[in-house]
Formats: sequence, structure tokens, C-alpha cells
Amino acid sequence: MKTFRCSCDNKQLLFFESSSCVSCQRVVGLDDAFNKVEPYDFDEESGCYFKARRPAARYQKCDNNADYNVCNGMVNLDDLVPEDGNDEVLCFACRFNETVPDLSIVEHIPLWKKMEAAKRRALYTLKALSLPLRNLRQDPENGLSFDFTTDRDVNDHFVSKLDYSESVFTGHDCGHITINLAEADDVARSQTKYAMNERYRTLLGHFRHELGHYYFDQLIVGSEKKNALSKECFGDDELDYQESLKKYYENKPADNWRDEFISEYATMHPYEDWAETWAHYMHIMDTLETAKNFSITGSITGDAADAEETDELNLPQDSKFFYSQTSITSVLDAWMEFSVILNSLNRSMGMNDAYPFVLSQPVRKKLSFIHHAIHNKFSLIKS
Ligand SMILES: [Zn+2]
Ligand SMILES: [Zn+2]
Ligand SMILES: [Zn+2]
Repeated sequence: MKTFRCSCDNKQLLFFESSSCVSCQRVVGLDDAFNKVEPYDFDEESGCYFKARRPAARYQKCDNNADYNVCNGMVNLDDLVPEDGNDEVLCFACRFNETVPDLSIVEHIPLWKKMEAAKRRALYTLKALSLPLRNLRQDPENGLSFDFTTDRDVNDHFVSKLDYSESVFTGHDCGHITINLAEADDVARSQTKYAMNERYRTLLGHFRHELGHYYFDQLIVGSEKKNALSKECFGDDELDYQESLKKYYENKPADNWRDEFISEYATMHPYEDWAETWAHYMHIMDTLETAKNFSITGSITGDAADAEETDELNLPQDSKFFYSQTSITSVLDAWMEFSVILNSLNRSMGMNDAYPFVLSQPVRKKLSFIHHAIHNKFSLIKS
């Protein structure tokens, strides 16, 4: 993720999540291009916002920004296509929402805000990678949508079941992603993490994992050739899923699972292996982009000769990102170095490792497959 600068005299640092500038107090936000957080001025006469660099265009805050402060989306009113009987003004990210949490329960609002922050970050990297990203209105058949809902009581950290609610399972089904609101509650999520003996469980991880399932359908399923290549890399995805699930919870995976898989859950079924590996690819790309933004990608940064090597990383913020020679090897080598720095920084703060994973050679191969699937460069896959 990049950081941004306000246009005020202080050139104040702005973050992806910023909704106002702490120096000049102006409203800041993200428009539909979803690549720049910048300041907006308010025009009393029209009651709209505008950008100084583009004064003719009129903007309004997304309803979820104005009413609940759960996003920092700004909507260009000229691009707005009103639907019959619907005068909602929603930003790029909020237009993917099908169901938001029950807002009559005020305790849901801060948790919803965490959900939106994770969703927006996950979407940013997908957009930066030029992956197809269409909501249900743009593509009723293959569009992407989100349900944020729960079947449990927020007041006891989601322990008690709500009488009136159907069960809610976090998962993906034909472009429809459900995330249980309980995952936004730190107590509830930590309890699940320890109960499941997981080393990493975050909201952002959930989004990236479920989006991985969606993009398997979008990038792989339609092509016989890609399907065959995927089977070679991840195993046969036609294996009975329910059977694999049952087996996974009955028997622990073999002790040496790390030799072939990024996580224990990835051992369950080739679908889950793909989704887990996809999530890691996104974690790596986002975190390296952040590191590069602050010039801390490890020993490969520094003098002029090394700067050339850093350029080869082809991270989303680089204009050269779509070079055909985009090298996953340099990305993963940089990641190996940087993740050591990242974990060491965490240890200095008395915290657990941020990236408690090992990238074995087979895992690197799977990450490479995903990289080439994203860039549609299957011809570059080396066996
Ligand atoms: Zn400012
Ligand atoms: Zn919004
Ligand atoms: Zn999954």
C-alpha cells in the first residue's frame, strides 16, 4: 500500500484509510479510481465537494462515509447512474455490498468499519493488479458481492446464538462472499484462532482467502488448459470436497505438511490450497508495496546499482508492472529478506511474528503459478 500527501502547506502524510487531513482539517478520501487519497474542498453554493486540481467535477461523500464514517469514499456525481427508486450514493467499494450488518444494533457499527477497512485494502491490491472487478449491477452473472452479517450476539463477543437468525458461515459461493461479523471482534476471532490452532487469523486474511476462491472461478475454471495446469500444481480440485473436509477435521495433517503447503488448512483440498496461496500472494504484494513506499525492502535497497533490482519487483505501484518479464523470483527473494525484517521489528515490540510462515520450494512454485495466472502468462510457467 502506498501513502499519500495532502496539498496543504505541510504536505501532510495521508493514509489509505484517512478521512481528514490532521494539518489543514480538510476532508480527504478516495474516488472510484481507487488509487489516490486526496483532499476535497466544500462548495457552499452547490453543497458539493470538489478537487482543486479538477474544479469542474462535483463530488459527494459516499452515504456510508457521511452517515456512519465506515469508509472514506467520494463519489463523482457526474458518473453517478441513479437507479429507479434508489437515490443511494455509494462509492466504488460500497457498491459491492449486498448485506451490511444490522445497524439498529449500534455496537455493530465499529465492527462494520473494521470490515470495510479490510475489504477496501483487499480490493485496492486487486485493482492495482488490473484483475477484473465488477459488482453485481455491472455483471449480474459473474459479479462480486459481499454479505456482512451474523447469527450471534455482539454483546457477549458473539458467543450466544441469536434466536431469530439463520446460521452464518464465512465463505464464497459463486461470487458471493459472506464474512461473519464476529470475525471483526478481536475477542471472538482470537478465541477461534486458538481453538483452531491457527498461527494467523485476520479480517484481511479472510477477505483475501475468499476472494481467492472467486478468482479461481474467474481465471481458471473457464479454460481447459489452465485447469489442467492448475491440477498439476495444486492437485485435482474435483476431489470430493465434503469428504476432504471430514477427513481434515478427523485426522491431523502429516507433520511434514510445511514441505508442500503454506498453511495447515491448505492441506484440506486443492481449492483451499489455491485460496490460501492466493491470500499469501496478496499479503506479499501489499506488504512489499508498503515497504517499498517507505524505502525499506531490505538489503536490496540502497545504492544506485541495487535500485535497478528493486525496480524489477514490478509491484502494483510501478508503471512497468505489466512487463512480460515480471519476475516472481525477484518478488519472492525480496519477500524472504523483508519478512525477516518484519518479524524482527515485531519481536522488538514484544509481539509475535507478523509472518510466521516458511516458503518452501513447492509453495514458491504455487505462488509463481498464481502470479502467472493473474498476469495471464501461463507460457512462462516453468515445471
Ligand atoms: Zn492538508
Ligand atoms: Zn463507501
Ligand atoms: Zn476456503
